[in-house]
Amino acid sequence: MTGVVCAPLRLEAAALRVPGARVLHTGMGPRRSAEAAARLGDTPAVLAGVAGAVTDRVRPGDLVVATEIDGPDGPVSPPSAPLLAAALRRHGLTVHTGPIACSETLVEGAERVRLAERGALAVDMESAGFATVPGPLAVVRSVVDTPGHPLWRPGTVWRGIAGLRSLRAAAPVLADWCAAAAHGEILLASPRSFCAGVDRAIEIVERALARYGAPVYVRRQIVHNAHVVRRLETLGAVFVKEVEEVPAGATTVLAAHGVAPSVRKAAADRGVHLIDATCPLVTKVHNEVRRYSARGDTVFLIGHADHEEVEGTLGEAPDQVVVVEDAAAAAQVRPPDPEKVAYAMQTTLAVDEAEEIAAVLRKRFPAMSAPRRDDICYATTNRQRAVRVVAEHADLVLVVGSGNSSNSKRLVEVARRQGAPAHLIDDVSEVDLRWLAGASRVGITAGASAPPHLVDELTRCLAGLGRTALRESQVADEDVQFTLPREVD
Ligand code: SF4
Repeated sequence: MTGVVCAPLRLEAAALRVPGARVLHTGMGPRRSAEAAARLGDTPAVLAGVAGAVTDRVRPGDLVVATEIDGPDGPVSPPSAPLLAAALRRHGLTVHTGPIACSETLVEGAERVRLAERGALAVDMESAGFATVPGPLAVVRSVVDTPGHPLWRPGTVWRGIAGLRSLRAAAPVLADWCAAAAHGEILLASPRSFCAGVDRAIEIVERALARYGAPVYVRRQIVHNAHVVRRLETLGAVFVKEVEEVPAGATTVLAAHGVAPSVRKAAADRGVHLIDATCPLVTKVHNEVRRYSARGDTVFLIGHADHEEVEGTLGEAPDQVVVVEDAAAAAQVRPPDPEKVAYAMQTTLAVDEAEEIAAVLRKRFPAMSAPRRDDICYATTNRQRAVRVVAEHADLVLVVGSGNSSNSKRLVEVARRQGAPAHLIDDVSEVDLRWLAGASRVGITAGASAPPHLVDELTRCLAGLGRTALRESQVADEDVQFTLPREVD
């Protein structure tokens, strides 16, 4: 099922014709568009053409992607709009998203004002005819006239050319949308998204803001997710790199990844009011490293040297901790006394890779002490198990998470090792439509720091591209909860 680009005017159809695109000239006006829509059945359709803006915020040559169109029983929302708008922006076009109204006649003057007051950005004469199509639908309009530059005024021809030029520039992206639209299903990995440590860290900042007032300083990203950080910033959190940037006496939260003892000392020296949001499962690893190093062991810390959690754990005993990043490093590491060694792990590693490294160390150092239970946390383990199940059956896996989130990156790797193409996306705006061509079963998961609402938005968008069936693979129940520090309890 390949989608089709529907253009009301011949000129528009000509502008939209690019190799690989199926373009239909559907005719002008509501009656013709309704007839064309009826003939389409459930074929995915993107209605595209020129239109008038009802606000001067939208300029000639800008595109409007409809988040809402007029339907017979009220507004209808094409769900893939955020995804399409982002793809058009990446293509270098100026794109607005919002409602597109539909009128049976050309709209001028007071009527434009009325539609703008209703919240519309643009008005056309065909979108309502498509509102009830059963298949995936998108509506894109390229603006020719605006309230300040109405039709039938000098310059209309040039504005018309600008509008058609933008349509032509948009054509390859609309062809991608058509290729991406397909009936299929979403395979949802479970558990996914927030873990107990992330939930707790975010709640600590929110409660600190409520109890002590803004600003509350946070050393480093509270959790590795850009959306979480931005939301907390709007509430009054101020993110800093080091405690030295915090005014003396100010309330400061330490991020979930943990810190070296030197950071606590620096905070104490500045008289900072410290609240610790370190995940208790990271604290457990710090405690192990302290115990091993106190008895004189060299501690192999399996993890990524540049990750904040590893930086913090290493800081417990910098002279005795050796970071081991991979099996090759494990095969070469030379401790001063091979009889006095131990290992610990970063909590967010790929379980199988970490185990491979630990196996090399165990073989080389039979006397090596090990943590009673492996340090990779329950949330990391469960999310990796779940994505493995999903990736087995998926044509494509999308992992929601930020680029600096270790556990999210590991989910991508696990899915790829399972044979599925996989991509990390911060949110739906990073989905490349071309990934979806031919992918009827799309697996979705999210790293432990990614908010659940981003998964909901992605699921909605993909449903708007035809993946309307939803299958959830649940590999574990999670009911872990951590207590809050007394400063905010
Ligand atoms: Fe804690 Fe694991 Fe969540 Fe990290 S991923 S915050 S270690 S529960």
